[in-house]
Amino acid sequence: MDGNNKSLGDLSTHFQKWEFRCPCKKCRRKKVRVSSLLLFKLEMMITIIDRGLDFHRPVIVLSGNRCEEENKRIGGFPGSEHIPAPDGEAADITVDSLTPIELGLIAEEVGGLRIGIAKWGIHVDVKPPCPSKFWVYVGKKPIYSGPIENNDLLKFYQIIKGK
Ligand SMILES: [Zn+2]
Ligand SMILES: [Zn+2]
Repeated sequence: MDGNNKSLGDLSTHFQKWEFRCPCKKCRRKKVRVSSLLLFKLEMMITIIDRGLDFHRPVIVLSGNRCEEENKRIGGFPGSEHIPAPDGEAADITVDSLTPIELGLIAEEVGGLRIGIAKWGIHVDVKPPCPSKFWVYVGKKPIYSGPIENNDLLKFYQIIKGK
């Protein structure tokens, strides 16, 4: 057996099921289900993040799957992509030493992701824009890109931040 396989995740190369598990008690034994498209896009992000580095910078999953109750408890958007149906299609992530907008621009480079920029990091999901492709949290309130600037994340972010 290849010794390198020891570091492989049980969901994808860099991700483990426990990282995506709903944190509530009720879900302790529930099967963790994550969209393979989302995992593929997250792995693509890692390739970009680690480009030119001789070490791996971990992507920390702050929130993966959530059951309805947990989603409600933390004030998540009703019908959130974090709720598996049947797979969870969203992840809230952060990377040490990358700002949320830097991480968001990497997600944009990967493409096919909706991206929400928050203080703690970013939300990404693999749902098509409807109609917004991006959002920025101002406090707890998301400002959506649809009516403002839906094609360029940095431009949209700068408009929202007034820079
Ligand atoms: Zn739960
Ligand atoms: Zn999220």
